[in-house]
Amino acid sequence: MYDLIIIGGGPAGLTAGIYAARAKMNVVMLEKMMPGGNVSITAEVENYPGTPGISGPELIVNMEKQARDFGLEIKSEEVLSIEVGAGTNGHTVKSDAGEYTAKSILIATGSSPRRLGCPGEEEHIGRGVSYCATCDGAFYRDKHVAVVGGGDSAVEEGLFLTKFASRVTIIHRRDRLRATKIIQEKAMKHPKIDFIWESVVEAIEGTPTVNNLKIKNVKTGNVTDFAADGIFIFVGYIPGTDFVPGLVDKDQSGYLITNMEMRTNVPGIFAAGDIIVKKQRQIVTACGDAATAIKSIEHYNEWYFEDEQYL
Ligand code: NAP
Repeated sequence: MYDLIIIGGGPAGLTAGIYAARAKMNVVMLEKMMPGGNVSITAEVENYPGTPGISGPELIVNMEKQARDFGLEIKSEEVLSIEVGAGTNGHTVKSDAGEYTAKSILIATGSSPRRLGCPGEEEHIGRGVSYCATCDGAFYRDKHVAVVGGGDSAVEEGLFLTKFASRVTIIHRRDRLRATKIIQEKAMKHPKIDFIWESVVEAIEGTPTVNNLKIKNVKTGNVTDFAADGIFIFVGYIPGTDFVPGLVDKDQSGYLITNMEMRTNVPGIFAAGDIIVKKQRQIVTACGDAATAIKSIEHYNEWYFEDEQYL
């Protein structure tokens, strides 16, 4: 039986891996793709202390190396379900490649980009619709791209796209941005960036690649055509909790509810990072959650599985 199975290899999972391996736990990480999560598709990380201006992929490579150097085992497997065990049997994780039992499980599966849900979005993915500026920005050299959203992701990735595109138009449904002030200011001042306020994208058009957007002004209801070569969508994220047992408490949006020690309501199941209900979804807060979670897991494993009085 493992002491701990970490599900997900973003900043929370990798930090948990570093802390658990250093605590000499018998630990494995299950990650369905490459470690990194959303950070690995982030162009530049400005606010992770001590690494000003580092790229997302570079930060993740460093974190992964650090975790592996301490002995973390990482398996490329997709978790399909968790079976909650009784007593000291531990919990069982079923993946597409095997079945593992552990005293504790840390869910750190983060979230994935939310879709706009408008006509033309699905069929143009990879043909003008993108959710990743780092991955696809270079395809839009000297082109005009639209960015949808008003949060940190939209504005930061919009700024990144100016490296390639001749013009970046940020389309936002309100009359003010939600992004951090410093990047708002950068975007407002940038000669290649303009804004369309109080507007939403109603349809994405073009054959075979995107060349037009139908944009509706939410105040007037007017729908207009807007020529663009591509559209980058950053309208938030949805939590990846499909495999999580119904027994684990979630909020209305599917985020996992934990206490300050990162415990869910099910003993031995912990969660950390973007997957949990919280106010600040940042790399640094994900790492902090994970460090807290490992301390709680150490205590839980010791108390529940080793304390003679309890047994
Ligand atoms: P977010 O903060 O949830 O912002 C989503 C944006 O999309 C909002 O402006 C929202 O509009 C808009 N939106 C939502 N649904 C929409 C729809 N159906 N149509 C049009 N617009 C829609 O998401 P995020 O920017 O991806 O950030 C997620 C979290 O990661 C945040 O906590 C953020 O601070 C963090 N993050 C941090 C950094 C950083 O610190 N460097 C970088 C990236 C992300 P409203 O404003 O009207 O709600």
